[in-house]
Amino acid sequence: MLVAVKAYPVRTDGHGEAVCVAGVRLDVEPPAWVRVFPVPFRRLPKDQQFRKFDVISLEVVRSADSRPESWEPRADTIAVVGAKSTKSGWLDRRQIIEPLLVRSMCEVQRRQALDGTSLAVFRPREILAWSVEPAPPKPPAGTQLDMFEPSLEALEDIPYKFRYRYTCRDEPACPGHQQRVLDWELGQAYRSWRRRYGDDEGTLRAIKQKWLDEVVAADRDVMLFVGSVARYPASFCVLGVFWPPAVAEIPLF
Ligand SMILES: [Zn+2]
Repeated sequence: MLVAVKAYPVRTDGHGEAVCVAGVRLDVEPPAWVRVFPVPFRRLPKDQQFRKFDVISLEVVRSADSRPESWEPRADTIAVVGAKSTKSGWLDRRQIIEPLLVRSMCEVQRRQALDGTSLAVFRPREILAWSVEPAPPKPPAGTQLDMFEPSLEALEDIPYKFRYRYTCRDEPACPGHQQRVLDWELGQAYRSWRRRYGDDEGTLRAIKQKWLDEVVAADRDVMLFVGSVARYPASFCVLGVFWPPAVAEIPLF
């Protein structure tokens, strides 16, 4: 599979800390969405710790999760076998992601009602806003050690929820969508920028600048990866942004 998104780690019942990974199966024709969970990412040996847009191979078994794209990985079989680079305007990545594009988030919701679709990518019409709100506090740190790997650095909870608000293309009745962003990179940015800036004000400003002014900028061909929540299959979050440079229009003289 091509790894398209990695969510921020969560503590699970029975599996310790784990990460949800979604991407594109390359062993089926046509390539199709796949979700693998739980991936004990931070406990994997370094050479198995794949990055976004790596191609990995792994064995999976059917997941207890009823969403059709979900599989449970055999973590010891994960191997990084390649990577799709950003060369030539992200061409290698676009060739895999763009055939999966659907029209809009409104369309994703219609498909979810019909067939349980729980992963998708589309181009939003316009990103209207980036919002931040405090997240409810989690249990105290003493209970947060990973039961499978007590030496693992404790998972740092991100005390905010970040959301994009946007509208759909070609959907006159679109009410607009506001969805949480669960990308691991966002959590990592908060952690490392919090250390650099020393306070939340500067950190949150830098995050907004990155995710609103840089990632979804006018010179980017912005597509959103969305996935539904296991317990609420009709509610979706933004799992990541696909933001290759916009293809320049070739002037015709
Ligand atoms: Zn819509």
